Amino acid sequence: MNAPLPVEVLKQHLIDPEICIRCNTCEETCPVDAITHDSNNYVVDPEICNGCMACVPPCPTGSIDNWRLVVRAEAYSVQDQLGWEELPQEKPLPLDAAAGGEGGQATPAPQAEAGPAQAAAVTAATPGAAVPPWSAAHPYVNLYTHKTPITATVVGNYRVTGADTESDIHHIVLDFGEQPFPVLEGQSIGILPPGVDAQGRPHHARQYSLASPRDGERAGYNNLSLTVKRVTQDHGGAAAHGVCSNYLCDLAKNDTVQVIGPFGHTFLMPNHPQANLIMICTGTGSAPMRAMTERSRRLIGTADIGKLMLFFGARTERELPYFGPLMKLPRDFIDINLALSREPGQPKRYVQDLIRERAAHVRGLLADRNTCIYVCGLKGMEVGVLDALRDVVVQSGEDWSILHDVLRREGRLHFETY
Ligand code: FAD
Repeated sequence: MNAPLPVEVLKQHLIDPEICIRCNTCEETCPVDAITHDSNNYVVDPEICNGCMACVPPCPTGSIDNWRLVVRAEAYSVQDQLGWEELPQEKPLPLDAAAGGEGGQATPAPQAEAGPAQAAAVTAATPGAAVPPWSAAHPYVNLYTHKTPITATVVGNYRVTGADTESDIHHIVLDFGEQPFPVLEGQSIGILPPGVDAQGRPHHARQYSLASPRDGERAGYNNLSLTVKRVTQDHGGAAAHGVCSNYLCDLAKNDTVQVIGPFGHTFLMPNHPQANLIMICTGTGSAPMRAMTERSRRLIGTADIGKLMLFFGARTERELPYFGPLMKLPRDFIDINLALSREPGQPKRYVQDLIRERAAHVRGLLADRNTCIYVCGLKGMEVGVLDALRDVVVQSGEDWSILHDVLRREGRLHFETY
């Protein structure tokens, strides 16, 4: 008699369609292009996914971190997953597969080796940490979802870049009234723009970083602020009408907005005394830096605040959001470095140029285990900033790859780019 064929078991990687906010982060992160989407869902191709976990830490909601043990031959196909409104229930494996009994044998695929527990360990594909700083406060995430959004009221909306510039960036204040919406600096929220997309489906949520600290845009009030750039061109410079950014920038006082979240459990500021912050940003990437700076400013006199060093890039001073209030901050509280790339009469400078110019200070802060680094802005800035940090470290005769690993492991280097 022929021996029965072994039953191969697969730990299948799935995305929870009820929690996913369709932000595309997983698809951008996946090193083997196993993630795809249509207008309904983001899904993982079981034929391609190798369980490397690179997509898991960057996911803002955790919807990416779902796994089902299935018989490989019966794995959920891409087509199955695209049609889902919710994840299927766990199905018991056939006895022979689960127990390796007569007539079959469990042969977990390589994916089964890597599970959620390994998420923090398998992060080589992402330059930043997959864990928060050790002293960060506990964040609440996913309190409000697509099915249970919260309504916020617009209590302020004004432009924070020069009226004569192309860059139309708004400071928008949302109030939650009596409803709980606990947040931390570095977290983001999702906005559900009204209306439907070209396929007639409700628009998916867009994420926006908080620009205000945990105790509110106005201390003690249940409100928060956002820094939103009106998108009028796509990344290639062609004319485009950004659905959500235009909706937000056009909101009037007393309008209401559907909000989901909060999101984010790693890009959080340290909570312990003497923690130093190096903040590197461009454009609306200044939002979390404003939140962290304001949190620290409000602690002056009540806590032992560490050093704050800011590298802020924009084309011109007038395109730099919050320029006025920023320049009023005391210089012994924050070390401000502005990199302007198109200021008439000045040489072009980018944040990475300034990091190199301030190498001695940056190196001094990096040597202190109380220092955390935050980078936020356009995706393209990641490589330049990493190169500059590496140059600063190498110049002082040290090994960047060792320090980079330490910074990641200790939750001291964080990126939020989009
Ligand atoms: P869409 O209708 O989605 O896109 C229209 C076109 O513009 C498309 O071709 C698209 O590729 C292109 N496009 C999309 N985004 C941009 C962009 N930023 N610049 C140029 N072209 C673009 N945005 C903020 O303004 N402030 C924030 O604080 C902020 N925080 C974010 C935090 C996170 C974690 C993430 C993932 C994104 C964040 N964004 C932020 C970006 C934001 O979520 C939206 O992507 C952005 O507002 C564009 O959405 P839209 O609906 O207006 O454009």
